[in-house]
Amino acid sequence: MSLKLAIRTEGVAPSAVREILKIAERPDVLSFAGGLPAPELFPVEAIAEAHARVLSTAGGAALQYSTSEGFGPLREWVAADFRRRGVAGAHADSIVITNGSQQGIDLAARVLLDPGAVVVTENPSYLAALQVFAAAQARVVPVASDAEGMMIDALAKVLATEDVRMIYVVPNFANPTGATLSLARRHGLMALAQSYGVPVLEDDPYGALRYSGSQLPPLASLDASGLVLSMGTFSKTLAPGLRLGWVLAPEAMRKHLVVAKQASDLHTGSLAQRAAVALLERFDYDAHVLKLCRVYGERCSAMHRVLSRALPTGSTFNKPVGGLFFWVELPTLLDATALLPLAVAQKLAYVPGAPFFAVAPKRNTLRLNFSNRPVDAIADGMERLGLLFSRESGQLETVAPAKARRARTH
Ligand code: PMP
Repeated sequence: MSLKLAIRTEGVAPSAVREILKIAERPDVLSFAGGLPAPELFPVEAIAEAHARVLSTAGGAALQYSTSEGFGPLREWVAADFRRRGVAGAHADSIVITNGSQQGIDLAARVLLDPGAVVVTENPSYLAALQVFAAAQARVVPVASDAEGMMIDALAKVLATEDVRMIYVVPNFANPTGATLSLARRHGLMALAQSYGVPVLEDDPYGALRYSGSQLPPLASLDASGLVLSMGTFSKTLAPGLRLGWVLAPEAMRKHLVVAKQASDLHTGSLAQRAAVALLERFDYDAHVLKLCRVYGERCSAMHRVLSRALPTGSTFNKPVGGLFFWVELPTLLDATALLPLAVAQKLAYVPGAPFFAVAPKRNTLRLNFSNRPVDAIADGMERLGLLFSRESGQLETVAPAKARRARTH
C-alpha cells in the first residue's frame, strides 16, 4: 500500500545535493558548505553561567510552560534594539519570540499565503525560505537582483502584473549572494509595497555582522503603513543551538502570528529565553559582536584574497561587506552541481548555487561560507578549489599556472 502524502510535500523533496553534503560533514572534509558560525567563538561559559543563574533564581518558572508571545524582558531587549536602529515605534508588545528566525518565515507564510499565492523573492534567494513557500503551496516569482539586492524596476513590473501577497527579502549580506539592498532600493521597495499594500518579510539574521561601512536603516524603520514583518535572531551572534529568534510585527498581523505559533509549538523554550536575558545583563554583547566582526572580517578578506587569484578566468564574485558568504559565478561551461562530487573526493565542499533559484537555475554558481574555518584553512581550501575549477575549465591544460594567474582579472 503506498503512503498517501499531502500535496504540499511534493515541492519539498530531499535533493541529491543534500545527500552529497551529508558526506561533506565528515570531519576529514574541509567544508565551506554550511552557513555555520564559528563554534570556537560561542560564549559557552557565559551561556552556561546564565543558565545556572536562571535555574537557581527562577527555578520552576524557568521550566514551566509560558506565553506564545515570549518572555517579556527578552521582548523588551529586542524592541530596544529595533528602536536603536531607527524603528521608533517598536515596543515589547510588537515582538513575538520565535524558535529561530526560520520559524518567523514559516509563521508569516501560514498567516499570509493561501495555496497559489504569489511571493516575490530575490533571485537567487534563501533556500529554506523557498522550502517554506513550497510547503505553503505558494508560487514564487523571483525578481532580478544584483550586488545591490532586488532590482526595483523589475519588482515594479511584477507588482503591476501579479496579485503579490508577500515580498520576501534578506536586506543585509544575503544568503546566498552576500548582497546588501542599497539605501535607494530600500526606499524604492517600501514605496512600491505601500502603493500596492503588500506585506514585506524583512529577514535579517546577518545585519549585526558588518565588516566595513555603516549600517543601513531596516525596512521596518521606513514602514509608514504597518506592512513590514522584521525578523532577527541570536543564531549568528550568540549561538544557533539556542534557537532564539524574533519577529517585529504590526498589530494586525501579530495576533495571527501568535495563534499560528500556538498551533505550531505553543511557545519558544522558557529556559533559553530567560537565560538569554540573564546573559545580556552581565555579558558585553556589543563587544562580543565587535569581536565576531573582527574575526569574520579577517576570514572574509582571506577568502577574497585567494579567490581573486585562484579562480579560473571568466569567474566573478563580489566581496561581501558582512555576513557569512561569497557567491561565485564560474565560467558558464562549468556546472557546480556536477563538480561537487569531484570536490568532495578531494575532501573539499561547497554548496552549488542551483537550488537557490526558484526557477531557471544558473548552474555555474556556488556559495562559499567563510565564518566556520580559520584563515589558513580558507587559504588552503580556496587554492585547491581554484585549481580544481581551473583544471575543469581547461585553462590549466593550455596555459602554465603561474602565467594563467597573472593574466586573470576580476
Ligand atoms: N534566514 C536566513 C536568510 C538564513 O540564512 C537563516 C540561517 N541560515 C535563517 C533565516 C534561519 O536562522 P535561525 O532560524 O537560526 O534564526
